[in-house]
Amino acid sequence: MTERFDALVISKTDEDKSQSVAWTSLTLDDLMEGDVTVRVRHTTMNYKDALAITGKSPVVRRYPMIPGIDFAGEVVQSSDPEFSPGDEVILNGWGVGETHMGGYSRYARVRGKWLLKTPEGLSGADCMAVGTAGYTAALCVERLRVLGVTADRGKILVTGAAGGVGSFAIALLAQLGYSVTASTGRPDESAYLTELGASEIIDRAEFSDKGRPLGKERFAGAIDSVGSHTLASVIAQIGYGGSVAACGLAQGFDLPTTVMPFILRGVTLAGVDSVMAPRETRINAWSLVSSTIDRTVLQKITQTANLDDVTDFADDMLAGKIRGRVLLTVG
Ligand code: NDP
Repeated sequence: MTERFDALVISKTDEDKSQSVAWTSLTLDDLMEGDVTVRVRHTTMNYKDALAITGKSPVVRRYPMIPGIDFAGEVVQSSDPEFSPGDEVILNGWGVGETHMGGYSRYARVRGKWLLKTPEGLSGADCMAVGTAGYTAALCVERLRVLGVTADRGKILVTGAAGGVGSFAIALLAQLGYSVTASTGRPDESAYLTELGASEIIDRAEFSDKGRPLGKERFAGAIDSVGSHTLASVIAQIGYGGSVAACGLAQGFDLPTTVMPFILRGVTLAGVDSVMAPRETRINAWSLVSSTIDRTVLQKITQTANLDDVTDFADDMLAGKIRGRVLLTVG
């Protein structure tokens, strides 16, 4: 196939001080090795994509690179026996958009073992509205459940509430019967957070200072996508035997905490990674999403744009100005 198509390409040579980002006309020969080629129909913007496009963090580890850590589309060529042309598939992570060319393109060529068939009950567009952010929120919820944080144990705190991970964490927890406290820096989004299922909304400033090693036992568990002082302060306010699922660093990657909550209250800090999560774990997380999130909630969380406009969203995302998720349609 000699069809030409446009992809967003990040380039940098050894001599370049900074990277350049440009729409570039490619053919399939320009893509990297893989056993399945996918016609991308939908993709999305994640925090990591914003870092890659702006170059604010060393997310891209190979140049030239097509960013886009997620995509959904249709198989057009496959030498993997698991997939045939016409199959609807999704991909989240595995280094795609970082070390392997990603989803901001009409075509992607990847390893079949990175792909999942589109989960039952969801379309490719639904899956990209959820994206890595929503799938990670599901991984966090699963982690809390495995650690015994059940709905009857008390309130669950969600930080970075109006962001992608936060929005889905609230919606999933609320649907599962948990009482959810949303921590946000955007009080004007209170109505949105309440609609998703938060029963209490608090100002994130409560968690932004370096707090005391131990605070009042306010929460049975937490899902944190913010890191830094916020995570430290959250850990200090978890009740006896509670757990925190930590997945993000929107405030920073430091963690100025003490051992006190761990050794005096038996608190568990559980790290959650979506990129290299095993296939079975992914299937469980997607199944939780498809059985829990209804279409009205998905619509509330999602805004839709064309892939051509993706770069417009990057700075806003890093500034914490995007509410929920951005679904991108690939023409
Ligand atoms: P978003 O930008 O959509 O949301 C982040 C939210 O964090 C913002 O909406 C804001 O919420 C809050 N926030 C932003 N800056 C600050 C700050 N300086 N101090 C306190 N709160 C802040 O990003 P995502 O939800 O998509 O991702 C969140 C984090 O999770 C990122 O760090 C991302 O890299 C990470 N992540 C990790 C994954 C993994 O595999 N471990 C997978 C997916 C994401 P509000 O306005 O409500 O306060």
